[in-house]
Amino acid sequence: MLINTVTDDALAWQESALCAQAGPEFFFPAPGSSTREAKQLCNACEGRVACLEYALANDERFGVWGGLSEKERERLRREGRDRG
Ligand code: SF4
Repeated sequence: MLINTVTDDALAWQESALCAQAGPEFFFPAPGSSTREAKQLCNACEGRVACLEYALANDERFGVWGGLSEKERERLRREGRDRG
């Protein structure tokens, strides 16, 4: 079925997700905590671009996705809106 194929393709990046080997506290740090280590892992992750696209498309508000923090993703969204 086409819908399943699209969904499977859209989520294929999760199969190579490096964060699956790290604890959730790593990618969902307490407010004010460093996100540096999580971002370093993202930079080595094959699915980084697809992960970021997923987070933006699904309006993920919390944690590090695709190497960007919540604030960095919000800035990207704002810049996209400003460009129209
Ligand atoms: S880019 Fe980062 S958050 Fe996304 S799957 Fe890879 S390690 Fe996980």
